[in-house]
Amino acid sequence: MMDEGDNNRVPIIGVARHRLAVDGQGVTTLVAFHGCTLRCRYCLNAQCLRANGFSRTITPPELLDEVMIDNLYFLATGGGITFGGGEPAIRSEFIDTFCHMAPSEWHITMETALNVDRHHLERLLPLVHQYIIDIKDINPDIYRRYTGQDNWRALDNLRWLLDHEDMAERIVVRVPHIPDYNTDDDVNCTREYLGELGITHIDEFTYKRSNPQTTQSI
Ligand code: SF4
Repeated sequence: MMDEGDNNRVPIIGVARHRLAVDGQGVTTLVAFHGCTLRCRYCLNAQCLRANGFSRTITPPELLDEVMIDNLYFLATGGGITFGGGEPAIRSEFIDTFCHMAPSEWHITMETALNVDRHHLERLLPLVHQYIIDIKDINPDIYRRYTGQDNWRALDNLRWLLDHEDMAERIVVRVPHIPDYNTDDDVNCTREYLGELGITHIDEFTYKRSNPQTTQSI
């Protein structure tokens, strides 16, 4: 017999507790979903791209049960849950259900590349307090070579997000130097573009070929 919420059961690659100032304010628990719309060359969590690369499946009530153990840490530090992956935005229905069950004081952060259908972001908009956005590179050729996809949807979604009040304050954009894919000049172009959009929180860093891509570790 199926439990309530089983129709919203999703694959995850892991849950990591007690993260401090790594991916969101206060103490956070990172929930890393399986699956992504991109195929980045230096993806650290490459298991999220393989069909059977997940560790288990979970429903919103099951996740809430699991992460509730750190409720006092979240409340005391202003922390909460960070959704990563993979691409968490494609799990918007799961996150919607979870957030409506979770304590409203929890701070919700999303690490996303924004290359998803708009309806996911519309559903997430009232739920997510902070976005950490990996924009890769605004040059479409570089982006396509590196991720296998076009970047028009990610940039369109970024502009859409910024149309909402105070959004620039709630967004950190990660701008990577990508060995063999972009140059310092390309990175400067991306920074300039983001500045013109009103983005002030920019995290510039370098992907490593051998230890690539994100700061997540599950
Ligand atoms: S690096 Fe991130 S956006 Fe790129 S394929 Fe991996 S999980 Fe997806």
